[in-house]
Amino acid sequence: MYILRFDFMSLAFSPLFSGSSGNAVFVGAKDVGVLIDTGLSGSVVESALSCIGEEARNIKAILITHEHIDHIKGAGILSRKYDIPIFANQATWDAMRPKIGEIKEKNICVYTDTDFYIEDLCIEAIRTPHDAAMSVGYRVCYKNKSVAVMTDLGHCTKKIISHLQNTDIVLLESNHDIGMLNSSRYPRALKKRILGDNGHLSNDAAGCAAVELIKNGVKGILLGHLSEENNHEELAYNVVYQKLTAANIKVGRDMALGMAFRKKTAGIFHVK
Ligand SMILES: [Zn+2]
Ligand SMILES: [Zn+2]
Repeated sequence: MYILRFDFMSLAFSPLFSGSSGNAVFVGAKDVGVLIDTGLSGSVVESALSCIGEEARNIKAILITHEHIDHIKGAGILSRKYDIPIFANQATWDAMRPKIGEIKEKNICVYTDTDFYIEDLCIEAIRTPHDAAMSVGYRVCYKNKSVAVMTDLGHCTKKIISHLQNTDIVLLESNHDIGMLNSSRYPRALKKRILGDNGHLSNDAAGCAAVELIKNGVKGILLGHLSEENNHEELAYNVVYQKLTAANIKVGRDMALGMAFRKKTAGIFHVK
């Protein structure tokens, strides 16, 4: 039996891990919990879930944003162990299927509509510009609350901003500092890939996106998917903070700004 851990009206959001070493986010309401991506080993995700008082056996679905290994590593293992359905679009399924091992036919869930339900949670898949087969971010709505994961995108489009209108919390990529990346020892091709339109969002670009999101009614932003080599938490936070301030948006008064972490959970945020 699922323990009723949230009050009836609230939506829980917990970025368990965020970064190129692995991504997993828990979203839950009432008696339904889902994972967005499972990019670490099954046992690491299981223990992170238990740290926030959840159990992998109660997860109703794993939603995959795209087939890069930092988003799918533990998906097959958890699906097999706990009989959890995995949801992805057809192109992502085609790309990830050889990488995640045998999955029961009934747990291969291909969605064709961009909006669908998992019990009482309404899921919206939002296309992202990224070098994957058909990458998406997800917005999860429950009653009039909503949270979203928007990482792994080379640039933020107007369409994405409008899709995220009035979202309570957005986990937004703030991947790298452009100067640090340019002077890093990364091969030229990799730098070009990360900086490209289908790569990853820089701190500056995250700051600009954050301003647009807040103007569109978003209430809180968590910065995530930080590069280990070409960024650090304080720098990402400060760059975005300054962009917001320059746009007359006061952190703490007009919106909340926080971080999701590479190797530890960011805690549980209850949207009420
Ligand atoms: Zn990633
Ligand atoms: Zn990716």
